Amino acid sequence: MSHKKYIIPFTEEEPLIVQGYNGPFSHFAVRHGNDYTYALDFKLPYGTPIVAARSGKVKLLLDSSSQCYTGVDIEEARGYIPNAIEIRHDDGSIAHYQHLQKGSIRAHYLQFGDYVSQGQEIGNTGKSGWIGLIPHLHFMVYNSTCDFMGKRMLQTRPIDFTNYQGLLYHEELKEMYGSDYPFLFSPAGV
Ligand SMILES: [Zn+2]
Repeated sequence: MSHKKYIIPFTEEEPLIVQGYNGPFSHFAVRHGNDYTYALDFKLPYGTPIVAARSGKVKLLLDSSSQCYTGVDIEEARGYIPNAIEIRHDDGSIAHYQHLQKGSIRAHYLQFGDYVSQGQEIGNTGKSGWIGLIPHLHFMVYNSTCDFMGKRMLQTRPIDFTNYQGLLYHEELKEMYGSDYPFLFSPAGV
């Protein structure tokens, strides 16, 4: 049986990555012991249906936040809680989908522990968390590890999508788009 590991987590828009691998804005390689190197931000209009990139079980569900920050100040951004869902795959890796609309996960009748099939709708993008200047979906696949003190840490992993052959690394995207590349957080277009 063929197994398509990851698909782009939405179907109604063409994928446009506004922060690729090695993202310079908010995906600092290591922050508080967590490694966000391989997180991706997809530009999407608010309300876009999000689908599971890979099948698995719901392990985290946050969809009651009304907090949203559309500014560019990283210190200011810290206090804003996003809505998000996480799905654990059969190999132990976890997909994280962030900046969802309040109530949109429960509107899809999902609960902790539910099995979700690849391609199944799991929520809608919305105004929650640190959106910055461009409405987007923050998506990453990670493994959970522990440091020597037993503290849980997150290690993102690079993945490929079976239905997307475009660039994934930020530097390459920036080079391709040139001055047309949409910038998320930096008015200077870093
Ligand atoms: Zn992001």
